[in-house]
Amino acid sequence: MRDTMSEVSPRPRTPDEPERALREMARRHALERAVLACLARDEIVATLLDGLPGAHECDSVSLALPERSGMWTLHFALADPPGAAPAERHDIPKAELERVFAEPAGVLLRAPGGVLLRAPGVLPAFLDRHARCGTRSLRIVPVGSPDRPLAMLAIGRRVPVPRDPHEAHHARQLADQLAIALEKARLYEAVHHMAYHDGLTGLPNRVWVREALSAAIPAALEGEALVGLLFVDLDHFKQVNDTLGHPVGDDLLKAVAERIRRVVERVVEGSPSVAAALARLGGDELTVVVTGARCVEEIEGVATLVHGCLADSFFLRGHELSCSSTIGVAVCPRDGTTVQALFKNADAALHDAKTKGRDQVRFYVDSMSEKTLARIQIETRLRRALDGEGLALAYQPIVDSSSGALVGAEALLRLTDPELSRVGPADFIPVAEETGLIVPIGEWVVREACAAARRFADAGNASFRVSVNFASRQFRGEKLVEMITGALAGTGARPANLGIELTESTLIGAHEHSIEMLRRLRALGVRVAVDDFGTGYSSLARLKTFPVDALKIDCSFVRDLVWSRDDGAIVRAILALGRTLDLHVVAEGVETAEQLEWLRREGCSEIQGHLIGEPACEAEFTSAFLDGTLG
Ligand code: C2E
Ligand code: MG
Ligand code: MG
Repeated sequence: MRDTMSEVSPRPRTPDEPERALREMARRHALERAVLACLARDEIVATLLDGLPGAHECDSVSLALPERSGMWTLHFALADPPGAAPAERHDIPKAELERVFAEPAGVLLRAPGGVLLRAPGVLPAFLDRHARCGTRSLRIVPVGSPDRPLAMLAIGRRVPVPRDPHEAHHARQLADQLAIALEKARLYEAVHHMAYHDGLTGLPNRVWVREALSAAIPAALEGEALVGLLFVDLDHFKQVNDTLGHPVGDDLLKAVAERIRRVVERVVEGSPSVAAALARLGGDELTVVVTGARCVEEIEGVATLVHGCLADSFFLRGHELSCSSTIGVAVCPRDGTTVQALFKNADAALHDAKTKGRDQVRFYVDSMSEKTLARIQIETRLRRALDGEGLALAYQPIVDSSSGALVGAEALLRLTDPELSRVGPADFIPVAEETGLIVPIGEWVVREACAAARRFADAGNASFRVSVNFASRQFRGEKLVEMITGALAGTGARPANLGIELTESTLIGAHEHSIEMLRRLRALGVRVAVDDFGTGYSSLARLKTFPVDALKIDCSFVRDLVWSRDDGAIVRAILALGRTLDLHVVAEGVETAEQLEWLRREGCSEIQGHLIGEPACEAEFTSAFLDGTLG
């Protein structure tokens, strides 16, 4: 090959040579600096193809670069006039490539200064593009080292060029700068990839999702296209991790990601405008960002496909694993116009789908917003409260209506977290029930209430009773009696110092084995009361069969009983029922002296309400009620 390379003598020097040489040097250096300033490969290619004609004598230029696939691509541009034709891209056929790297063409990669080819017929076929535009001399310079080729630079001239060591040197110098720039771009890309991708699945990560949304939102605000954010939660993934171990969990996650990725890819191929990308936010939280959608139905289509593709089981390490998904979707601009709002609302939609039984797709609707978000916040805080010391009991006095003597107190749960001080049990107990947190929380309440009951008894109030509320989910537990007897034994409180309150609806919905647990507790001496009585429509016949000691009249009837004939009649009926079934009746929510007088006259046995005292911490309660200020 070298034989065909005819190199002629350098051209003679002219008097203005030094000045011209300086100008050329400045231009060459400017190009090298520009190349070195590039951070990405494409940028390097563009800078080179654009800038080379001004810095070196040339009519055509090309840079061949290896691709990740193992193939190479030739980037080619004509120099004259600069920018006249756009840069071209040509795939270099594999066979051609193998020839280039083999002898004799392989010599190209080993000659440090490259070679100057002057017969178009001897050009490797992949450089044929130079030949087709009338190239007579072609300087080919390898970029990088022969064992680690980074690129191949080719500079063409339409005139025969004499052999010139300067020209060879300059080309070499440029190739060296290109090598540094390409290596730097490779490192930059690697660091960039690490920053924007998840190590386990190789999927884009949260940072990427945020940036992708930020980039897509402006078009959505202009009304050009919709953006969809899908939060994909894998149902019962934690169970796989817990029972089969993290390696299986990781494999499942990778398999799920791969299946969704393929579906998402098909969507993109099948639609001219919609783009969708799968990412992993962490744990089993996957997300799909849909851009360019013309209508919500297109986003819904992607969500349905993603949900549907997980319907079939996975076979991993000898296990058949089913892994359905729950998907929450927020659409920009409809459901939010900022990254933060879309994240929040996709999460709210996901949360709503989870509470509605999982394995489904749910789009965000306005009504989910405040309520659902507050619930999510409460759930997080409850978990934290349970870990640390975020729970406390407040005690509200209950007095005998005729003597005014203190008979006990209702223990009411409070959160001590300052941010949640305004969130009462009516808001957080349902969340605790939904999430199952009520079970450990309820155990804490019973232990704490028993410990307080023991302290009250020790302070000289032997028959004082602390009443604890039970949510229906707690009441369903198998070990309720054991838990309560354990707390009594652990604190030394007597069963008679403890009362439990169950709402009327909990009682109506109870299974026989729960009723049996109540019988056992009652037999021990624990007082059982039906809370919020009057709201649950229990029949007299049914009520008779329940093992209960007391009825608590719901606040709502007490509020208006003095002037509302209906409420007055209901309360009278409850009191009559209590007398018939030989049950204590406690009126809750008593706020005025008139209410107290009315209830006393009608024979209500016990009174609870702000008129007597508001719920207070143990120290305040003790000093206000047990140290003799009242009763
Ligand atoms: P509840 O068992 O019917 O408790 C009575 C509620 O009425 C308490 O609200 C109490 O502060 C309030 N109250 C008492 N007197 C008056 C009054 O004169 N006027 C008015 N307007 N309200 C009065 P709280 O503490 O917000 O508790 C609400 C509900 O949360 C309770 O209703 C109970 O069902 C539930 N709860 C409270 N603590 C616990 C607990 O430890 N476990 C369970 N499972 N539920 C609890
Ligand atoms: Mg209660
Ligand atoms: Mg009540």
